[in-house]
Amino acid sequence: MTKKLFWENPYLTELETRVASVKGNDVTVEETIFYAFSGGQESDHGTIGRHRVLEACKQGKEIVYTLEDGHALEPGHPALIRIDWDRRYKLMRLHFAAELVLELVYRNLPSIQKVGAHIARDKARIDFQWNGNISAVFPAVDSETLRIIKADENIISEFSDEEKEERFWEIKGFARVPCGGTHLRKTGEIREIGLKRKNPGKGKERIEVYVPE
Ligand SMILES: [Zn+2]
Repeated sequence: MTKKLFWENPYLTELETRVASVKGNDVTVEETIFYAFSGGQESDHGTIGRHRVLEACKQGKEIVYTLEDGHALEPGHPALIRIDWDRRYKLMRLHFAAELVLELVYRNLPSIQKVGAHIARDKARIDFQWNGNISAVFPAVDSETLRIIKADENIISEFSDEEKEERFWEIKGFARVPCGGTHLRKTGEIREIGLKRKNPGKGKERIEVYVPE
């Protein structure tokens, strides 16, 4: 099973590893820095052994990478993994920005229910079941996120259960939040946060979260 180095060091952009298995264009590797879609955070983009990865897919605890046609990799071959770091870092910043926004929405509206979340390269979104106008909490969420970003708090990100690969993040003043995404080291890396309200209808409210490039 692949060792997931994107958790212990989410800042690695290149890794020399070995191919573990090959089935047509699907390969697995001994160790990886290449994140596969999970918890709403999109997969990385990049290459394995100079071949473009078309898809990264979690299968249980394994990650299967589908390469473009024409690779000649075999089990045991050395393989350099490279990820699109600009994209990943933006995803990490948007991810943590969305985590903070969500925690602060819960603080301001304890009875609200999250029904979905997605982190893409341009923005993150969080969907709620809520009959009011979610932008009513924006001033409170804005000022509190700004305070946390300015304070440049340490973000702790560790296993709660290593066997089950369950992880959490934690910052000062917040309870542990379960999440298997890749997290920043410091809240200051978010730099700034922008919020937009969307109203998809049917008692749903959406917050779009933006961070500067
Ligand atoms: Zn997270």
